[in-house]
Amino acid sequence: MKADVKNFKPDSGRVYLVGAGPGDPELLTLRAVRLLQQADVIVYDNLVSDGVLAFVSPSAERIYAGKRRNEHTLRQEQINTLLVKLASQGKQVVRLKGGDPFIFGRGGEELQALAASGVAFEVVPGVTAASGVSSYAGIPLTHRDHAQCCLFVTGHLKDGTADLDWPSLVRLNQTVVIYMGLGGLPEICKQMVAHGSSPELPIAVVQDGSQPTQKVVTGTLADMAERVAQAGLKSPCLTIIGEVVKLHRELAWFEPATRTVPV
Ligand code: SAH
Repeated sequence: MKADVKNFKPDSGRVYLVGAGPGDPELLTLRAVRLLQQADVIVYDNLVSDGVLAFVSPSAERIYAGKRRNEHTLRQEQINTLLVKLASQGKQVVRLKGGDPFIFGRGGEELQALAASGVAFEVVPGVTAASGVSSYAGIPLTHRDHAQCCLFVTGHLKDGTADLDWPSLVRLNQTVVIYMGLGGLPEICKQMVAHGSSPELPIAVVQDGSQPTQKVVTGTLADMAERVAQAGLKSPCLTIIGEVVKLHRELAWFEPATRTVPV
């Protein structure tokens, strides 16, 4: 891609907190691409796809900051310190995160550390998984016939239980999108039914949304844990719960590599 990047470099160091989207590099913003081409150093997470990294200037230093569950390559404080150090050396730093940095991305925490150290920063939003993954799965998150509200929650387990506000999750006419919920899925389905959801409520789990390896598994709260186990899905997976999931059959469009396990 050709971009007008003249006069980009300011004199002092700066950190650009950039959203990389859900994987398909075509979903990067123009601003993200320009910055990837111009940065001195890129500090990136494991959710950033190879297709996105292909836009990084060959002369840029690349630092992998990791963050897989239970396997943090750099601890959060180490990442914060690293960003401050690189910017203090006068470098243009792109801190690249999957999806949108402000949605379950700890972007706020990193910026607080930069602000406290007087480091200049900017934020470039990205397509968050809820939006990008649902689009590529053909599941509109709202629809006048099915859902007037949409909740984004994290299903990350604490002490073996998902610490979620169940009464708000089981309300009718809404869609619930769960980030990081694969491990806790059986418990989440069980708790939703226990708190009043129909066992027949449709649910989809999408692995590698927007990527050639995308897989969509659909089912109901009653049978989803088994379906997901059978399909052998692996992280990253996004869970979408609500009547809108039914539209997947009609609206799935992402070909050719999409493999759908039908209900
Ligand atoms: N900041 C990111 C979310 C980070 S939390 C964003 O805005 O999207 C990581 C979780 O996001 C994963 O566990 C998964 O639930 C979801 N996720 C991110 N990319 C995904 C993808 N391509 N396919 C499915 N889920 C994805």
